[in-house]
Amino acid sequence: MGQSVSRSARFEKGPEMRTVHDTTRRRDSEKRKRHVVEPKTAALVSTARTSRLRRIAPRAPRLATLQHSASRPDLDALLAAGKHRAMSAANVAVIGAGISGAVCASLLAARGVAVTVFDSGRGAGGRMAQRRETMEDGTELRFDHGAPYFTVSNDEVARVLSGWEARGIVAEWKAMFACFDRATGKFTDFEKVGDTKKYVGVPGMNAICKSLCLDDGLVAKFGVTVGKMDWLHDRSSWSLASLDGKDLGYFDYVVATDKIIASPSFSGLTGRPPPLDLSSFPQLSAMVPEIPVRPCFALMVAFSEPLASVPVHGFSFNNSDFLSRAFCDSSKPGRACVPPNRQSWVLHSTTEYASKVIHEIGPRKPSADALSKVAEELFKEFQSTGLNIPRPVFMKAHRWGGAFPAISIGGDDKCVWDKSTKLAICGDFCASPSVEGAILSAMSGASKILGCLNCPSGL
Ligand SMILES: Cc1cc2nc3c(=O)[nH]c(=O)nc-3n(C[C@H](O)[C@H](O)[C@H](O)COP(=O)(O)OP(=O)(O)OC[C@H]3O[C@@H](n4cnc5c(N)ncnc54)[C@H](O)[C@@H]3O)c2cc1C
Repeated sequence: MGQSVSRSARFEKGPEMRTVHDTTRRRDSEKRKRHVVEPKTAALVSTARTSRLRRIAPRAPRLATLQHSASRPDLDALLAAGKHRAMSAANVAVIGAGISGAVCASLLAARGVAVTVFDSGRGAGGRMAQRRETMEDGTELRFDHGAPYFTVSNDEVARVLSGWEARGIVAEWKAMFACFDRATGKFTDFEKVGDTKKYVGVPGMNAICKSLCLDDGLVAKFGVTVGKMDWLHDRSSWSLASLDGKDLGYFDYVVATDKIIASPSFSGLTGRPPPLDLSSFPQLSAMVPEIPVRPCFALMVAFSEPLASVPVHGFSFNNSDFLSRAFCDSSKPGRACVPPNRQSWVLHSTTEYASKVIHEIGPRKPSADALSKVAEELFKEFQSTGLNIPRPVFMKAHRWGGAFPAISIGGDDKCVWDKSTKLAICGDFCASPSVEGAILSAMSGASKILGCLNCPSGL
């Protein structure tokens, strides 16, 4: 009984009947089923399918009940695979399936903790996002319109990263970068390939979060916005409810990974009070101030031919009021364009430009017209660089209202931890405004919880 087992084990038939192919197929299919997309925001999922999915992923199942369904060969297989897990009857809700939520959930699940991840979005990734667009001729385009890549300097993160590389969900982007001076029209400061290693998710930036959310012991529910978090003192647990009032279950621990969880800006977006009412938690309110953010517009563009006048895969702009960076998305590993000559780019606006536009149009989701205007303005700036930029075959803008947190609140801990309510607040805003910062914060949040459960974190 010293080890816990994968949830998928309970769906499998007895080992004596199992073939390798059969088992693999079943595991994959069960993992897909555990990815529940709630119907309200996921119009593409049929009612029949979602009701079946809901039956398969009931509210917050406890690991203890799952352990009974494990047969001895399952345990042996796990032991043989070296998955020494800590037994724990605790269940944890992780709010957010961005990189901090996905890493934290995966680390906890790997040590036998039952984890349920909720995300408002239709899939995992958060700001490590990939957008699919279909052109009029039916061809599909994909853009990493959030974080374009990330770098790693911390040894612990490097260790986790090499595991992801081995899983095939991350690869080094051997890209040449430079600066482009808008005033002189010249590229400067050419970086050598590999000077600073740049990593990307494969086949998209969201691949890491997507894959981690399929880990054993973890249930991910998408299209679910946590709208209310109530601490039940007598039960010593949290009760969560969705924005539309659905009961999401009781949880011993909660990991909240978005700064909006206790922020008035949640009300600006949803018209509802933020899920976490800090006035009930004086010990927390001092630690969780309102976090200022830096917005950004991402412009996704595709060209029928490569940009011959651009000698690099990515560059930052000097002396532009509109544009800050540009990346050739189709040059990343695992992103072959069809037809092969097509090239896709993602350009980022300056914070100043994005702030000005958001001030004019307000904090809510921008209209299609407002986004078209932004796309035209940013593209006009790109064309006026003198880089001989042709008309694109596709162009669309996306707004990131809070692309980067402007402060960090986690201190040396890199997360906010309230032991009395077993609440961890993690994310890039607790460490540094980067993918690596978010990962470090997630590791810290996971180790706080594992410490309480007397599980060696080994992080
Ligand atoms: C345009 C852009 C460019 C960037 N460039 C870089 C770069 O070059 N290098 C780099 O390292 N980083 C970059 N970043 C930053 C990087 O993407 C972030 O630091 C990192 O992804 C943050 O991860 P996170 O998990 O902390 O937060 P997020 O990714 O924001 O995840 C939070 C998740 O919580 C969910 N959520 C929030 N509230 C709720 C709720 N109530 N209920 C359910 N779900 C909820 C959200 O849907 C979201 O998925 C960039 C970001 C952007 C937007």
